[in-house]
Amino acid sequence: MSLRSWGEPPWRRSSFDAIASLPDACDVAIIGGGLTGASAAWHLASRGVKAVLFEADRIASGASGRTGGLVLEGLAYGPRPGADDCVPQLRRLVDELALDCGLYLPGCWEIVHETLDGRLLPWRDAGSAISILNTVPGGIVEPAALTLGLAAAARRAGAKLFEHAPVKRINRGRSPIVEVAGRRVSCAQVVVALNGWTAALIPIPEMVSALTYALVTAPLEQTTLKALGLAERIPFYTADTPYLWGRVCDDGAIVFGAGLTYGSPAEMEATAITQTEPQAILDGLEKRIRGLHPALARVPITSRWAGPIAFRKGAIPVLARLPEAPNVLVAAAYAGHGVAFSVHAGRLMAAAIIDNATLPPWGAIARDANQS
Ligand SMILES: Cc1cc2nc3c(=O)[nH]c(=O)nc-3n(C[C@H](O)[C@H](O)[C@H](O)COP(=O)(O)OP(=O)(O)OC[C@H]3O[C@@H](n4cnc5c(N)ncnc54)[C@H](O)[C@@H]3O)c2cc1C
Repeated sequence: MSLRSWGEPPWRRSSFDAIASLPDACDVAIIGGGLTGASAAWHLASRGVKAVLFEADRIASGASGRTGGLVLEGLAYGPRPGADDCVPQLRRLVDELALDCGLYLPGCWEIVHETLDGRLLPWRDAGSAISILNTVPGGIVEPAALTLGLAAAARRAGAKLFEHAPVKRINRGRSPIVEVAGRRVSCAQVVVALNGWTAALIPIPEMVSALTYALVTAPLEQTTLKALGLAERIPFYTADTPYLWGRVCDDGAIVFGAGLTYGSPAEMEATAITQTEPQAILDGLEKRIRGLHPALARVPITSRWAGPIAFRKGAIPVLARLPEAPNVLVAAAYAGHGVAFSVHAGRLMAAAIIDNATLPPWGAIARDANQS
């Protein structure tokens, strides 16, 4: 259980054994135990790098354990070189590590508030019919199981993972020092995998954080899913506004999500979903869902929750070495489109560290970004 007052998502999660004693030094310090950090830890440790991961709360307690788990290709602003093969790579990694995370890739519907002949769903939202515009590559995954599976694989490969180990500061220099839990850990390189929390340690220009919201219905019978057009469990998101995404879970429950409240990492941490604005967003989402189809009008909502995401201008992720401190790498700001891409980002950062591979130019940080 996380200490944050953001509600509990429905995803199954295994426990993770904490390690007691922090090291004095390591090759690479990874900060953040979500999909980005767990993937970086696996890709580094599996190639013999001494990687140590510090997670402030529990592994998968941030976005990666709170996401809807829609597996999407590319970036929120479209496919780009270096981010155009994320879904097949995720499939291969899940198979290679035999991760039990329900990865299912039937595609994903882009839906619109329009009447398109032959492509209508039996739904109404915002006073409009809803149609399927496209089916794009992708599908769904159990996100906490994927994150914890990657973390466990990293640990088996020799990475050390610490929970309840918040990093307070990174002292940049030729040999960076990470200050964590009253200790100073020196390392050759640092991977900052904090997404919505990035600004707390590394301010990045034109990057903002937000909480986004979701809820889950009680499990529905297959006949009800069929009446809703969801018998094949194809996930969906709107390509227009008002924004809405959703997916069916293993037990037949449906997760829906929408809505944002912007804030600094400290403001997000201080937010509880019982406060006025989050509650109004979740009430509005619940009302929309109940109006979508008669079968949802009285369905019990079993949980409501929030989770942090981050955006940079133009929805372009950060994936770069800091210009003034190239031994510090940052990946963040996936604009709510980060399940497959975060795993890919962890792989790319490991390749940058081990093979000196170039990171994609679109992920670069402007030179004045890292004054501290
Ligand atoms: C409700 C919701 C729905 C979403 N739906 C989708 C979707 O359907 N499809 C999709 O592609 N994307 C979706 N996203 C986005 C996706 O989940 C994220 O892009 C992705 O999980 C980011 O992973 P991450 O590892 O970079 O960040 P996170 O998982 O947020 O991990 C960051 C970690 O850093 C830790 N941390 C914070 N401060 C410190 C510190 N000082 N020291 C150490 N650790 C620290 C946090 O506790 C956290 O565990 C959604 C996100 C949310 C919140």
